[in-house]
Amino acid sequence: IKQIIIIVCSLILCANSFAQQKSIEEKVNALMSKMNLEEKVGQMNQYSSTEELTGPKMASPDLLKEIRAGRLGSVLNIRGVKQTRQLQEAAMQTRLKIPLLFAHDVIHGYRVTFPIPLAEAASWDLDAIELSARIAGKEAAAAGLHWTFAPMVDICRDPRWGRVMEGAGEDPYLGSLIAKARVKGFQGKGFGSTDAVMACAKHFAAYGAAIGGRDYNSVDISGRMLWETYLPPFKAAADAGVATFMNSFNDLNGVPASASTYLQRDILKGKWNFKGFVVSDWGSIGEMIQHGYVKDNYEAAEAAVKAGSDMDMESRSYINNLVQLVKDKKVPESVIDEAVKRILTLKFKMGLFDDPFRYCDEKREAATLNTPEHQAAALRMAEKSMVLLKNENQLLPLNKEYKTIALIGPMAKSNADMKGFWALDWGKEDNLVSLYDGMQHKVGNTTQLLYSKGCDITDTSRAQFTEAVATAQKAEVIIMAIGEAHDMSGEAKSRANIHLPGVQEELVKAIQATGKPLIVLIMAGRPLIFNWTADNANAILYTWWLGSQAGNAMANVLYGDYNPSGKLPITFPRFEGQIPLYYNYLNTGRPAQNEDITFYRSGYIDTPNSPRYHFGYGLSYTQFKYENLKLSDTVMNKNGSIKVSLLLTNTGKFAGEEVAQLYLRDYVASLVRPVKELKDFKKVYLHPGETKTIEFTIDKEKLSFYNARLLWDCEPGTFKLMIGSSSKDIRLEGDFELMGSR
Ligand code: BGC
Repeated sequence: IKQIIIIVCSLILCANSFAQQKSIEEKVNALMSKMNLEEKVGQMNQYSSTEELTGPKMASPDLLKEIRAGRLGSVLNIRGVKQTRQLQEAAMQTRLKIPLLFAHDVIHGYRVTFPIPLAEAASWDLDAIELSARIAGKEAAAAGLHWTFAPMVDICRDPRWGRVMEGAGEDPYLGSLIAKARVKGFQGKGFGSTDAVMACAKHFAAYGAAIGGRDYNSVDISGRMLWETYLPPFKAAADAGVATFMNSFNDLNGVPASASTYLQRDILKGKWNFKGFVVSDWGSIGEMIQHGYVKDNYEAAEAAVKAGSDMDMESRSYINNLVQLVKDKKVPESVIDEAVKRILTLKFKMGLFDDPFRYCDEKREAATLNTPEHQAAALRMAEKSMVLLKNENQLLPLNKEYKTIALIGPMAKSNADMKGFWALDWGKEDNLVSLYDGMQHKVGNTTQLLYSKGCDITDTSRAQFTEAVATAQKAEVIIMAIGEAHDMSGEAKSRANIHLPGVQEELVKAIQATGKPLIVLIMAGRPLIFNWTADNANAILYTWWLGSQAGNAMANVLYGDYNPSGKLPITFPRFEGQIPLYYNYLNTGRPAQNEDITFYRSGYIDTPNSPRYHFGYGLSYTQFKYENLKLSDTVMNKNGSIKVSLLLTNTGKFAGEEVAQLYLRDYVASLVRPVKELKDFKKVYLHPGETKTIEFTIDKEKLSFYNARLLWDCEPGTFKLMIGSSSKDIRLEGDFELMGSR
């Protein structure tokens, strides 16, 4: 009976959504039958409300004029109900009163800033990541926005690339789960609920594979690498129902993404059956002229629209050329219609035709932004995002008996750098909590905090070293706060030298020479290189850029009120020359026998070949024991599965969370396979002494890969199962067999 009820209910739901869709389709068709070509092309055009760059001012007369002329479908870079209302009122003065879509880069929080996306990825906590996007979506929607240009789901294996901070790291599996969580978070219960925005999976595709990690650079990768490494998070976002996609600045194997029929029509709208629309990246359609792919904006518009780019962000190629292209019979009007249909469908789904001002509610805006609840979630997320890299003799958590602590370094009192790149600027009211503020708040007047800046972030002056050393000498323990300024990683922030900037590592040396216990906090938007510090500091906490609540979160971790549980979502190299360096590399004919020895082996003769820190690595204040690996079977057939279980015990003194990671290796296959690939993980909370059974299921999905014909399939043979605390620290392993003949 229960099953029958479920089936009936699902049928009713299905029928309902089908009817809804049908009625939206009818409405879109009815509207389009009234639209002239100019009006249609207007819907495909998006401009920035440029004043945003100087603060939330009202729109410029030019922009209003364009809107009233029906030459815009969407406006980006706009903030606050007051402004969106004014523009929407202008849109209501057009002949057909088609509402505008308001968009912004709400990347890691709107009013309350959450940790940068790469930091959140280090939490491996999908619920928390979803909640972070949920709150960002809620605040953005309350502030009049319909659409965020997030999540960025580009896989990145190159920490020189500044936009590494905006993604989920190097792994396609983890990246896919995070992409899904973020889409779900931003979009909430679905289109049209006024506490959520449409998400945008970007940048389609392979933007993260820019040669040399140089932003906007060419991408030249094999089809297999595209499918296996770069496309999975996009596929996951599409499957999760993401409303829109953004294409990318780069060319992929010679074709600019904005003109890629292969990406946009064959894969996205064809194979993946994506029903939303594709927006170009900023000016990317026009930039095809600089690429040398088209002669002028006329040709650019033709190439882009035919390839399936539905909306032109800022290049003006569409608004100035599409009408003529149709008249010249270069572009069939049906191509325009298809794009407009996609755009209008989402406007209907968002309920904007029912009430164009439904997102313009000043009261909701005031009540929703920056609530204590949102700040609390930002604090929880920041705690979960930190990765403990080293903790000699359990120096951390801090002994409460310390009465004098020195906080040293250019980041110790910095508020602004806590927000990281892509955070929205709220000026003085930002109230970002620095490490110093957070520590002060935590210790009150029980402990004395001494402070010395020591040096600037990028300056080469050592003039403040002496004072910093003198300060250190007065303290029982030293906490250094060093790293990158908030604008040193992000868009157009690629760096060839990713060592700690300026003289910061020299400052670490000078302070370490005092012989006092030394804890180093590194705040950055990418994996940095800090070999001396890694070898010589007593404890290292990688905090990334943690957002509004940074200092409070750090103080909680330093004092053990939160036991760190983050794991690196990206490999940390020892030298830039090792890049690209990632854990799931292919087997070679001459693998390094031991990661650090090279004798006619694949590797370098002048550096250890191992990373400084491995993918998946991160310590806790407690220890975890993995034991009793059991496989329900050691053979399976293609449609079967194997249940894997193990016992995980907290053997230390602190309650804490462990991320148990499952990796697989396909020993022999028709294409060379990676040495290991993450295929599952569980984040588990354990009290001291507590044991839990962890279970995983292995099925054909986990064993499959894109074969030479780019088909997703698995091949019979032996597989290696590895379970551990990082990609390097494998605690349990075993083999199993996929039956069949090869
Ligand atoms: C970035 C996009 C962003 C857009 C709008 C571009 O420069 O590449 O990620 O969404 O600007 O701000």
